[in-house]
Amino acid sequence: MKQARLVMVWFLPIIVIGGLFFPVLGYLVFAMMAFFITLSFFRGRYWCWNLCPRGTFLDIVMPKVSPNRPSPKLFTKKWFRWLVFTIFISFFIFRITQTGGSLLAIGVVFVSMCIVTTIISIILALTMKPRSWCSMCPMGTLQEHMGKIGKKK
Ligand code: SF4
Repeated sequence: MKQARLVMVWFLPIIVIGGLFFPVLGYLVFAMMAFFITLSFFRGRYWCWNLCPRGTFLDIVMPKVSPNRPSPKLFTKKWFRWLVFTIFISFFIFRITQTGGSLLAIGVVFVSMCIVTTIISIILALTMKPRSWCSMCPMGTLQEHMGKIGKKK
């Protein structure tokens, strides 16, 4: 699985840097989301710990520069995580509605959301633990919830 992570981590610069020049790369984010949301129904946050490009980047690169300070307990509170999720999704949906259905503009939305969340994750890693972002990442929250639904079935 380690080798898979070493491959997956490259998707982060491909999307975050490559996406600035080729917004169509944003559809990689869409494809990954479709994959991990489906996977999470059966395996919870398996994606987070084993395949996510950003999670892998935070695990491999950021420990070298992170002060490794504990993140605030607030980050793990259920209400806070769902608040972050709601803000993120609302903003995402709003931006999608502004694209007028243009496939390129939709790609830009995916790329820009990936850039913004990656910048936040790096800032948090530079001030707290490397994976601090993952405590409140909307996609992590969603996968955890989907995993719980899957377990009940
Ligand atoms: S919590 Fe978010 S950033 Fe962290 S590994 Fe999961 S999907 Fe990736």
